[in-house]
Amino acid sequence: MSTQQCFSCGAADGMVHFEGRGETVSVKGMERRIDNLSGWECQKCGEVELDEMCGQRYSDACDELVIASRKMVGNEMRRIRRKLHLTQKETVQLLSGGGHNAFSRYERGEILPPKALILLMRLLDRYPYLLTDAKTLGEGADLRGFEHIVHKEHESLSVS
Ligand SMILES: [Zn+2]
Repeated sequence: MSTQQCFSCGAADGMVHFEGRGETVSVKGMERRIDNLSGWECQKCGEVELDEMCGQRYSDACDELVIASRKMVGNEMRRIRRKLHLTQKETVQLLSGGGHNAFSRYERGEILPPKALILLMRLLDRYPYLLTDAKTLGEGADLRGFEHIVHKEHESLSVS
């Protein structure tokens, strides 16, 4: 059994070499299995360092998984938007704010939408009639276009 000093906790002969290990990584319910991993694991502190080629395969699999999950969320956003009969522009104005092409970047899976937006879209998917309420309640939520009304003194005293 080959051992070496742990670079993390310093335990002499703490790290033991392993081979043929399989690991499953998962993001948002999607999984990738990575087989034949080899590397070093510390028996004292649990630190793991994969051998170079395996580390590359491992991070490639993670990257691939993150991209796949962003695409999955993007497809979901597009499906719900179309179900609600909204254009990308309308969706940005009504729900997400931000740049005019923000929503198309979400749908293409380039960036992950904020969690609150995903939640909102899923709520509207389940209860589409709430879109009418969303339009009403969204009025005045965007403070860039707010207006204010000055009340004259006597108005604030009158009760009707
Ligand atoms: Zn250690």
